[in-house]
Amino acid sequence: MSDATTDSTAKAARPPLAYLEAELAELHARHLYRPLRVMQSAQGPEVVLDGRRVISLSSNDYLGLTHDPRLRAAAIAAVRDYGAGSGAVRTIAGTMELHMELEAELARFKGVEAVLTFQSGFTANTGVIPAITDERDLIVSDALNHASIIDGMRLSKAPRKIYPHRDVAALREILRSAAERGREDPGHEGEPYRSILVVTDGVFSMDGDIAPLPEIVAAADEVGAAVMVDDAHASGVLGRNGRGTIDHFGLHGRVAIQIGTLSKAVGVLGGYVAGPATLIDYLTQRARPFLFSTSHPPAVVAACLEAIRIFQEEPERIERLWVNTRRFKAELRRLGFDTGISETPITPIMLGESALAIRFSDRLFEEGIYATSVVYPTVALDKARIRTIVTAAHSDEQLDIALDAFERVGRELGVIGG
Ligand code: PMP
Repeated sequence: MSDATTDSTAKAARPPLAYLEAELAELHARHLYRPLRVMQSAQGPEVVLDGRRVISLSSNDYLGLTHDPRLRAAAIAAVRDYGAGSGAVRTIAGTMELHMELEAELARFKGVEAVLTFQSGFTANTGVIPAITDERDLIVSDALNHASIIDGMRLSKAPRKIYPHRDVAALREILRSAAERGREDPGHEGEPYRSILVVTDGVFSMDGDIAPLPEIVAAADEVGAAVMVDDAHASGVLGRNGRGTIDHFGLHGRVAIQIGTLSKAVGVLGGYVAGPATLIDYLTQRARPFLFSTSHPPAVVAACLEAIRIFQEEPERIERLWVNTRRFKAELRRLGFDTGISETPITPIMLGESALAIRFSDRLFEEGIYATSVVYPTVALDKARIRTIVTAAHSDEQLDIALDAFERVGRELGVIGG
């Protein structure tokens, strides 16, 4: 064997993914590495995490349904009747009557013609956006939209324009210019767009603020654009019985496409798109996660159906969620914390530096409170925070204990005075 051969063998023998070690080291050095905490209990207002019982302010379990005995019973009954898995994608042999029942029930609940469910809210966005847009269209998106909307746009051939967060004047300007000047791509300059799609979160997942939907819809109407709202954090939270932002603002019939999740307030797993029958019909032919990924197991679907029934029969859960939200937020502000621009149960405690946010979260954990830090790239580098979500299941006592811990840690780390 010549030296040259030995050299090249030595080079080739370097582990192919060795560069990831350097990337990980960089994340650690910049305090951006997030270890996983592991839960040994069911989800709920109190959980056992890494062997420690803590009050959790970090789930999306808004109405406390993840561990509800009725959802558990519905799931168990579905396993007994229909088995553990669906066994195929929806378009081949994986559409069970339970799937159809859930979609019909969600359509009734949302007051729309039809609904199509997806494996998750994430796949709903990444499935719908590229299915209904291509290079002839334009997508206009809020700067702080969820990652799944961003990925949905990346998967689409459509050009996109981003407007500053909740800035309707900027949105209107983009829409007017797009309507007047048409396409910008070489060879097609000036041709009118086939369609313009305005996409926004209903409730923004990191700041807890609500999209100015009436103004967005008015701006879209001026140029005949369609509006798509991702109501992942509004479902079960805003509107009558938790019907979402469209119901909250009284905009029924004015928003073409609603995305929802079954993974947060519904307490289970999944996503859906709600809208006109033609849209849903088209998506059954073109949305790739629907066509190429196996449908929900029966237990998931049955538990979701039970949750939607509870939404309608127990509005007191949503009332309790809001009582808890108002109290927790008001107390945090009274203590001197900056809770940003939140209007919903998502309450950030703005801290700035990621190292401080991580330290704050670690200290809270030692005090028996689980409230995660959110750092770059989920939020901007200088906008690190603790993100809390209170739920309907938290007791007054649990919230008081949590607030005491926030006060102690806040003073210790110099975030609040005294
Ligand atoms: N959209 C938004 C606005 C979200 O916050 C989330 C969840 N973080 C999703 C979509 C994804 O939903 P799921 O967890 O059901 O995939």
